[in-house]
Amino acid sequence: MSQKNVDKWKSIKAASLNTIMDSIAQGVVIVDTSLRVFYFNKFAEHLTGYKHTDVVNTMIDDAIPLRCDKDSNLGWPLQSVVDTGNEERRDCDFITIASGRKMPVVFHAAGIVGENGKQLGIMVIFRDVTEEKELMRLKSEFVSIVSHQLRTPASAVKWYLETLIDNRRGNKMNKWQSDKLHESYQSNERMIHLINDLLNVSRLDSGRYELNKTDFHLHQLMEEIISELTHFAHAHNVTIDNAIHKDIPEVSADRNKIREVILNLVTNAIKYTRKGHHQVEVGAKVEGSILHFFVRDGGIGIPKKDMEHIFKKFYRADNAIESQTEGSGLGLYIAREIVRLHGGDMWLESEENIGTTVHVTLPIKQA
Ligand code: ATP
Ligand code: MG
Repeated sequence: MSQKNVDKWKSIKAASLNTIMDSIAQGVVIVDTSLRVFYFNKFAEHLTGYKHTDVVNTMIDDAIPLRCDKDSNLGWPLQSVVDTGNEERRDCDFITIASGRKMPVVFHAAGIVGENGKQLGIMVIFRDVTEEKELMRLKSEFVSIVSHQLRTPASAVKWYLETLIDNRRGNKMNKWQSDKLHESYQSNERMIHLINDLLNVSRLDSGRYELNKTDFHLHQLMEEIISELTHFAHAHNVTIDNAIHKDIPEVSADRNKIREVILNLVTNAIKYTRKGHHQVEVGAKVEGSILHFFVRDGGIGIPKKDMEHIFKKFYRADNAIESQTEGSGLGLYIAREIVRLHGGDMWLESEENIGTTVHVTLPIKQA
């Protein structure tokens, strides 16, 4: 390092911690373990319009009100950082700034640990994501408009193909012509399915996905799904075993949406089967106020390297693409988002060439 650079480095080191913190182009708040604000940097003042003198010594929830879109009573979820020392990241929150505007933020909170290992406080770094959110909204709106526009001609093509396949004019068709018409019909159906998936993604991503909750039995719903998938399962040499007990408590959810979720999971379990005859098992158990159900198959499984990406939009593992060329990779993403909207969750266990189990939790009907 040249002498000039050494001198520069020395002067930076000599700068006070405050000067350095004030030079960070992100909002920085430090709170003590009782969540009282101890420090508020210049950029945080610039972002929020609050002065550090207004904020310091005040509880963070009172000083900088933070809310999450999905839960209007959230506040800063920092107690768990104090209790467990784990980091916390969120990107669904907004803070109400001095002007009264709700500013969407992404924040990262991590414990400040002293030399003796004792928790001294928490450093929260946040940034304004108004522009990112607006871009997301525009992207979602674009996908929504395009999908709506595509739906009309795709439905018209479906209608014309149905007319031809039903041979309503009584014109004779040879086998080749009839086969090609059926193939066109199937391709068009896949396109309609994809358009509907894209519409669902844009509704889910923009918070426009609405639920219509009722109480219903999962056993009965599963019977309907199994009956609908009989031919598909038979074609793949798979049998489906509904091990959900008839007397299991009802769940409180949107029946049609949960039907779509399970349909996707069971379809995956059937289409990603291996050679030979296999069984898909569907079961459920009660865990406190939630119902935990699963769909288990003995299929191709998911390679380890793909597991962390499998719920991402459009993601498909190579072994799945090899076994089934068709598929958009949107099904699992949509399914998990729908389940999460119900307050439940979805995760999976899988081993390549052994099989996959997808777990889902849903709230049980309140007594
Ligand atoms: P579609 O959007 O038509 O449902 P897809 O089935 O490929 O297409 P997802 O349902 O989202 O998409 O599944 C994503 C990927 O997860 C699949 O491509 C596959 O790699 C993997 N996967 C999902 N379920 C299973 C399963 N039961 N067994 C093996 N791999 C699976
Ligand atoms: Mg699928």
